[in-house]
Amino acid sequence: MTDLESFLAQAIRQRKLEQKLTKYALTRLREALGWVRGQIEFHGLTQIGPNRTERLKVLRMEVETYMKEQYATPLMQTMQVSEVMNDFIDQQLSLARQVVVATGGSASGALTASAVLPQAMGQVMVNGVPWGELLVDRLPASVADKVSRMLGLFPDDVGKVFADAIVRPTERHVEAIITSGVQDTGSIAQQLLWQIETSDAWKTDNQQVWSAMLDSRVCATCMGRDGKRYPMDYVKVSPHPNCRCVLLPESFFTQDRPVEGDGGKVVDIDTTQRATEKWLRDNPQTARKVLGVKVGNQFVEGKISLDVAVKKAGGS
Ligand SMILES: [Zn+2]
Repeated sequence: MTDLESFLAQAIRQRKLEQKLTKYALTRLREALGWVRGQIEFHGLTQIGPNRTERLKVLRMEVETYMKEQYATPLMQTMQVSEVMNDFIDQQLSLARQVVVATGGSASGALTASAVLPQAMGQVMVNGVPWGELLVDRLPASVADKVSRMLGLFPDDVGKVFADAIVRPTERHVEAIITSGVQDTGSIAQQLLWQIETSDAWKTDNQQVWSAMLDSRVCATCMGRDGKRYPMDYVKVSPHPNCRCVLLPESFFTQDRPVEGDGGKVVDIDTTQRATEKWLRDNPQTARKVLGVKVGNQFVEGKISLDVAVKKAGGS
């Protein structure tokens, strides 16, 4: 196994910690939505009756306040001090130090997970919105919205539609918010280490390289960014939730790495964009999956370059 390969393998193993946090977030969510369901009964909103609009307004406000104060805010606070999150960041920092040492640099060891955690969490953006705002403000508002829309559309069938209209979509929403936020917190913690713990010489000799997981699941945007260079003080902003890309120091990103093509076949390629382009042309099925059939075919036939194909496929 190359260094890069074991780095990526370790990074994937660590992502299992995310699943623990997601599970916790979903268990608490079910409790909170159980309370919401109870309030619908309490306000008599499962039947058509007088003052429905007024009662609906009251419920809507109650749901938003409850989701914010009893669910989202405590969840965010719990994550900031949770041992699972702390362990996760600790591992990310030690991985980052290994990378520094493997490339001839030295890391001071000054950063602690508990100090990095709130800072890294504070820098995470999901879909262009700060993580904290997305979870603590927008999620409660969106649940309140969904509840009032459901009560307007299915006034006497709430018992049947609650799970489909409220529980499941909110679960998926929370899962995406937590998974993306945790992943990016890990990436940012590593980037803070590059910036703070390493010597000036190592920093000036390096840039960060965008490294995508090259397989049929990669999106056109991430595929297009693969191999691009960023300054050492750039902090990753994922272009979409559940982005699997990592930023690595250039001096570490010099070896062959595994990529997965048609039929799941794994080969090693080097880290130039030309190698990426050749790999994708050699794997037409994968190209069509990543770029779409039409653009994928034009690319495979050599009519357009990778850069043009990525833009045509809607990548940014
Ligand atoms: Zn990505």
